[in-house]
Amino acid sequence: MLKGKTALVTGSTSGIGLGIAKALARQGADIVLNGFGDVEGPKAEVSKLGVKVAYHGADMSKPAEIDEMMKFASGRFGRVDILVNNAGIQHVARVEDFPPERWDAVIAINLSSAFHATRLALPAMKAANWGRIINIASVHGLVASAEKVAYVAAKHGIVGMTKVVALETATTGVTCNAICPGWVLTPLVQKQVDAKAAANGWSNEEATKRLLGEKEPSMQFTTPEELGELAVFFCSPAANNVRGVAWNMDGGWAAQ
Ligand code: NAD
Repeated sequence: MLKGKTALVTGSTSGIGLGIAKALARQGADIVLNGFGDVEGPKAEVSKLGVKVAYHGADMSKPAEIDEMMKFASGRFGRVDILVNNAGIQHVARVEDFPPERWDAVIAINLSSAFHATRLALPAMKAANWGRIINIASVHGLVASAEKVAYVAAKHGIVGMTKVVALETATTGVTCNAICPGWVLTPLVQKQVDAKAAANGWSNEEATKRLLGEKEPSMQFTTPEELGELAVFFCSPAANNVRGVAWNMDGGWAAQ
């Protein structure tokens, strides 16, 4: 379905981003990976799926590097047809203890980076009259939790930005939507499980159960594979007129 298209997925060396990159590659899209840590492993996983893969190591907190990454992607593949704004970090602390530099980092990586990548991707998408912008927000783009002030602000922000971009592209073949996952067991969440286990003297299993039990009625993690399939749907012709939605896949979290 996506043969001949190019997808750039930010923060795709791990977790949800890698799951989405692989789901789009299974549909035939060439992939530009981005993110820190091991690069060769994710690159090999994606190229096994029979598509072309490139990597750019832009730090998503730096607008100049985002600009370089967008130029690199269109230089390599001609155009970015699908942009998945996924890179993100978390910091957990009460407002009065929240280090201002962590606030700045969360807002830069989880929110401003998506603005920069989107503004740079849109002209070519509009010229081709086809494009998909998929913002990986969070159930925290819809509801709040204590001790996550920067994350919740950034994720509510990205849901708002999704709606603006959807309105500005409404009469074109470009769509912009957000995905709002509940808990997904990636390194970002394992750190929160570890912190709970250490603070309370719980086993990993007990801390995991308590973490799910607090928020997620299904008591199940959403998987990167499931989120990848939702991204594939947004890229399909059936989703041509799905615009500006914030679609939660959260085990019932936001239904409470
Ligand atoms: P993860 O830690 O597994 O992956 C994050 C990715 O972002 C990695 O590839 C990392 O290298 C990259 N990254 C981090 N900082 C970066 C930077 N400055 N520049 C470039 N890349 C950077 O996390 P994840 O759980 O897969 O999270 C991915 C997205 O999904 C985030 O936006 C997160 O907020 C969102 N999300 C996660 C969950 C969850 O439960 N895991 C739930 C809802 C939303």
